[in-house]
Amino acid sequence: MNFRSALNRPQIIHTLESTEFDLVIIGGGITGAGIALDASSRGMKVALIEKDDFASGTSSKSTKLVHGGLRYLKQLEIALVREVGLERAIVHKMAPHLVVSEKMVLPLVEGGTYGKLSTSFGLALYDFLAGVEGEDKRIMLSAEETLDKVPLLRNDILRAGGFYAEYRTDDARLTIENIKTAIQQGAICINYVRADDFVYEHGKMKAVVAKDVRSGQVFHIKGKFIVSAAGPWVDTLRKKDKSLEGKRLFLSKGVHIVVPHERFPLEHSVYFDVPDGRMMFAIPRHRTTYIGTTDTPYQGDINHVVGNKEDVDYLLKATNSMFPAINLTMEDVESSWAGLRPLIHEEGKSASEMSRKDEIFVSETGFISIAGGKLTGYRKMAERISNLVTKKYKRQYDKWFEDTDTSKIELTGGPFKKAKSVRKYTQQITEKIEPLGLSSYYAPYLVSNYGRQTEDILALVSQFSEDTIEVAIARAELRFGLENELITTPLDFFARRTGRLYFNLPSIKVVQSAVLKDFTDFFNWDSEILQRETEALDQAVYEASHFS
Ligand code: FAD
Repeated sequence: MNFRSALNRPQIIHTLESTEFDLVIIGGGITGAGIALDASSRGMKVALIEKDDFASGTSSKSTKLVHGGLRYLKQLEIALVREVGLERAIVHKMAPHLVVSEKMVLPLVEGGTYGKLSTSFGLALYDFLAGVEGEDKRIMLSAEETLDKVPLLRNDILRAGGFYAEYRTDDARLTIENIKTAIQQGAICINYVRADDFVYEHGKMKAVVAKDVRSGQVFHIKGKFIVSAAGPWVDTLRKKDKSLEGKRLFLSKGVHIVVPHERFPLEHSVYFDVPDGRMMFAIPRHRTTYIGTTDTPYQGDINHVVGNKEDVDYLLKATNSMFPAINLTMEDVESSWAGLRPLIHEEGKSASEMSRKDEIFVSETGFISIAGGKLTGYRKMAERISNLVTKKYKRQYDKWFEDTDTSKIELTGGPFKKAKSVRKYTQQITEKIEPLGLSSYYAPYLVSNYGRQTEDILALVSQFSEDTIEVAIARAELRFGLENELITTPLDFFARRTGRLYFNLPSIKVVQSAVLKDFTDFFNWDSEILQRETEALDQAVYEASHFS
């Protein structure tokens, strides 16, 4: 059976209901997806449930960098920087089409966060901790050289610059490829199934009371071990388990805005000082540049987080202060996203100062929760959870699961040996699609999203020959996603599988009616469902591009 198609939801749910799993994971963000892959590759029987879509929480709302976190060096979090720094290169190797090298310019300005000497030393240490070699090692730039790389920078306060290596990704795609690879390894993963409660025997957690939020069906999923990787919702589930004591989460909101590339033309990413003493990123991506992030305490509804006018004003002002020539205004903002950092609360520290380290909590009922951490460190977080479960399993059931090295498991979309093969492949795809009349935007877009699966998508395009080529490509992507990526709603497609909601919002209008018609046919939707899904999509588009 195809466990990657939402058409098979009833059978997938039947499997969840009728199996006793070694490990049940709650949460389909990058942390849960990573655990599902690690644990299933060890031979554990794994189930993963996600209450909304995969990556719909924080894991589609990050700055989308696979990075060591230069600023954590300043906070002397050496072990964290070393771990995530080393992870950058590993995740890049696993999926070089999806985790791409991104050179970063760090302008050094009068009165800024970093001085020239400390930056030179700090970046060298950063490279050393992350094992960066050869021409990727940092170089220091004069003010003129910095301006050559980023001509739009404010030059009156510019003193010098650093030029160093990071990686950029699509967080939601990284999550979905981990989910798909976990499914290949035997895990059962499903979206739109929520953990509402737990079943206990003799004080120990034995099952999850789950609800299929699409059909309303309530059922139990039995697990020898149950792990919550619920990101900002971790404390909600700890509370349900009556184990919310000691350390708690502190939620901090981070907003990004997206502007057309021609309004903020950058060739390199820039990590720059803003007037209140914080630092922000401006990152070019295909036809856009995105800017972020804010970092403010959040007490609102965690199921509905949006950027407001104040957030966007702050980002625009900060950008204009370092890049005065572009003079961005609210009208330039094409799209945006807002997410919550699930940080571990530390008394007396501001959101920016709190550690990004992950922590594991184990309650008396045996319920395991993991929170904090970074997208970049997901593999290590997964390994820690699998190691813990493996040890407990041995103690309780006298069976040992050999650990595996997930860095050796190619994520779906690969395999590419290195970045050079990705470039070659992108060139081949360009040659293939140019005769179809597609713009130069599409080859890098398709390859960075889907890797070698691009060919599976292109093979479908001829089925839609009556459409314009833009519509045909979207329909081919949708067909691929419906059959392989558990797409269930239009927002899954537009936000998490293709990133159109953020990076190509105008394209949604062009393809929306054809896409909705395909959904209707594929799932046999009645007019009520179609109206509900259309409204949800319209609202998401509105909220990404309007601010009050
Ligand atoms: P989430 O992605 O939130 O996943 C948890 C999932 O659990 C959600 O999808 C949710 O729907 C589900 N869930 C909750 N309750 C239930 C339930 N009852 N039943 C079923 N499912 C449930 N890290 C980096 O490495 N690089 C960056 O550039 C970076 N930038 C960031 C910028 C911002 C603004 C933010 C907010 C974070 C950033 N991070 C970055 C951190 C990174 O995004 C997070 O560490 C990571 O995405 C957290 O993933 P997660 O899987 O733990 O949580």
